Amino acid sequence: MADEISKAQTAQPGGDTIFGKIIHKEIPAKIIFEDDQCLAFHDVCPQAPTHFLVIPKRPVTQISVAEDDDENLGHLMIVGKTCAADLGLKKGYQIVINKGPDGGQSVYQIHLHILVGRQMK
Ligand code: AMP
Repeated sequence: MADEISKAQTAQPGGDTIFGKIIHKEIPAKIIFEDDQCLAFHDVCPQAPTHFLVIPKRPVTQISVAEDDDENLGHLMIVGKTCAADLGLKKGYQIVINKGPDGGQSVYQIHLHILVGRQMK
């Protein structure tokens, strides 16, 4: 956890991200779902018993720079809930978007975290 906090404090927007490499299949990921707009895959360092990410294929660094008419964001939510249903997550989940250093963002390609079995404190 401390490592994630320090990563978020030093991460910067710009350039290709690790998620860009996953989109282009340059590095492996446990992919749950893919279409022309987005990709869902399991987080490599899960923060909950089930933890997966949904990312757009189009580069958008963070929620604060998303366009007012960005329909892709809604699509990410729909894909997230559909993947959750497909994974049999009947008892619920959290959807989280981290933004910026103090929001804990370490990868500057916008993404939804879907977390299951982790209570907010
Ligand atoms: P955030 O801290 O909100 O930017 O979230 C970035 C997330 O990406 C973290 O939960 C990381 O564990 C996850 N992550 C980083 N690299 C990979 C990877 N290669 N495959 C899957 N998840 C990753």
